[in-house]
Amino acid sequence: MSHQPRDSEPNRSQAHGYPPNSSGLTIDELFDETTVLIVEDEPAIASAIARRMTVEGWRVEVAADGPSALESAARIMPDVVILDVMLPGMDGFEVCRQLQTERPVPVIMLTARDNETDMLVGLGFGADDYMTKPFSMRELIARTQAVLRRANRSSTETNIRPPIVAGDIRIDIAARRVSR
Ligand code: CA
Repeated sequence: MSHQPRDSEPNRSQAHGYPPNSSGLTIDELFDETTVLIVEDEPAIASAIARRMTVEGWRVEVAADGPSALESAARIMPDVVILDVMLPGMDGFEVCRQLQTERPVPVIMLTARDNETDMLVGLGFGADDYMTKPFSMRELIARTQAVLRRANRSSTETNIRPPIVAGDIRIDIAARRVSR
């Protein structure tokens, strides 16, 4: 785990007048923004996906290996994860499995070979969808939107997001309720 300098970026929670909360996100970000975690070790592909998703108005973070992906997911609580299978250190299947044990999150996997796709379909790693490289960016966006729509529907039925505590304020994302 690398050490992040604390003073490089102002605390956004405090900048908005709220006490720091357990997720590190502002209230606006928690309620309104679609957040996507892209896990891909090839910088050209990662930045192409990130650029395209930013155009959609989504908040995007990129992780280049498995451990960074797990750290990012715990911090930003993404609405969906785009996850490459071939990663250094820990493969995408293992990342997917560990993500689901922490907090259920929709995952779209990127595979490079047919045998990876066979594994994905045959063994059920908890991915919601997959695309084989090279893929169309338009298609990836469409599938991501579809996964987000499905997730939004089911999150009104099951409270998948734990409440967040900020000072003496309790924020229940699933119920869209703030209480003291
Ligand atoms: Ca890769």
